[in-house]
Amino acid sequence: MSSELETKQHFDFANLGLEMAQLFEHIDAAVLVVDQDRKVVATNGLASDFFGYDEGELLGQETRILFDDPADFEELGKSRYNNEVAEGFGERYVVRYRRKDGSVFDGATVSGVIRKTEDGTVYFFGMITDVSRQTAAESALNQLHEITSSRALNFEQRVDAILKLGTRHFGLPIGIFSKITDDQYEVQQAIHPENALTPGMSFDLGDTYCSHVVKADDVRGFHHVAQSEIQTHPCYKNFGLEAYLGAPIVTDGERYGTLNFSSPTPTRKFTGQDIELVRLFAAWLGHEIARTRDWRELETTRAELERLATLDPLTGLFNRRHMENCLRAELERVKRYNKSLVVALLDFDNFKDLNDSYGHDTGDDALKLFAKVSAEMMRDTDVIARWGGEEFLILMPETKAAGALKYLKRLTDRMRQSDFHAQDVEVKLTLSVGLGIAGPEDTIDKLVSRADIAMYEAKQAGRDTIRMYSEDES
Ligand code: GH3
Ligand code: MG
Ligand code: MG
Repeated sequence: MSSELETKQHFDFANLGLEMAQLFEHIDAAVLVVDQDRKVVATNGLASDFFGYDEGELLGQETRILFDDPADFEELGKSRYNNEVAEGFGERYVVRYRRKDGSVFDGATVSGVIRKTEDGTVYFFGMITDVSRQTAAESALNQLHEITSSRALNFEQRVDAILKLGTRHFGLPIGIFSKITDDQYEVQQAIHPENALTPGMSFDLGDTYCSHVVKADDVRGFHHVAQSEIQTHPCYKNFGLEAYLGAPIVTDGERYGTLNFSSPTPTRKFTGQDIELVRLFAAWLGHEIARTRDWRELETTRAELERLATLDPLTGLFNRRHMENCLRAELERVKRYNKSLVVALLDFDNFKDLNDSYGHDTGDDALKLFAKVSAEMMRDTDVIARWGGEEFLILMPETKAAGALKYLKRLTDRMRQSDFHAQDVEVKLTLSVGLGIAGPEDTIDKLVSRADIAMYEAKQAGRDTIRMYSEDES
């Protein structure tokens, strides 16, 4: 050990005539020299600043009083001081220290052995720098990562977690995620010790410190407004907020709003790390808003596509595919719960003649008119679909034959009485209708073919009429 010390020693400080204390006064760290009982024998000025004890109070004291956790003092004693040649001596380690006023800080510590040249007495020195801000920033970054990568949280919950993290980290109890439209500032989400802020509350942008963020398009911080250049700001007059830290939120290159933290009492000065951290929080929010917006648009498009896939383009009524799905579901209910179900197949009479006489477009108009009339007259539980060319199927759940007949009569009467004109000639639109009643063992095909048979019967009977399927017809 001693030979190693000697080889590392480039200068004999004593021979240079240097006052060691002067050297320590210029180091940007608290320096403590202790004896083998770990009692302080020398300190520099920063040691007093860091720990809040003056030099006289420190000298002769066991360093135990400087540790937040006595176990750390014991542990370090075992691993380093009790053994002169302890391993790892000289490495940097971080310990939580306690000041005279009880407050704590994380100190990065480098320690080592010094030996008196005359008699070889061993002392230990420790050089401590306050890394509280760094460790706090690291921890905030880790927490941000956890919040933003958690799948268990939705957007609002993540924003809430970020607001909480910010209020804790910056020591500013009010946290707001705002949206700014023109000159209006609207609270989207907020944290307030008295819950005085709720989503939707809005203020004139000029009355908020965020106006400075908007103007600068950058992070702005004021740690003591009363002593700053913005002491005449309306926000100070109206709300008495002494400290503020805010960052702009940008989505897809456009200003969205701000993320800001504030307090009715002044705080410590903001560091570069604080500025970067609030900027990072706001940047994440910006990306997330854009992502949520994209996702919502996609979701709307998908839902719209899905809706369109159920519709017939000409009439706007449901298409056959959708009707088949409905039939399947309804037949299941018939089977399980013994519900009644009637289906009606409606076919235009002499539709070919209509097309041939007045053109295909006129035929199309007749189909659209049926869609309009049937939609108007439709009962809430019914489903109407275009089943084929000029054929329609109406599904009537929980309906008995008599009710269905009555309804279909009204519908076909309305069609016949509709004032339909083709090339200035009035044309009577009539339909033949066949009804089928569902049984517990029915399939779609069986049920619809019964309605089809009945419909054919209606045609046979001279058209413009309604027929119910009955067993002896088959
Ligand atoms: P019936 O009284 O026996 O039903 O006589 P019909 O002329 O209506 O005979 P059918 O039902 O077999 O003929 C349907 C005709 O409807 C055939 C086809 O040209 C026509 N059609 C099918 N789809 C459309 C359509 O989308 N638009 C037009 N304009 N006509 C169509
Ligand atoms: Mg027809
Ligand atoms: Mg037909």
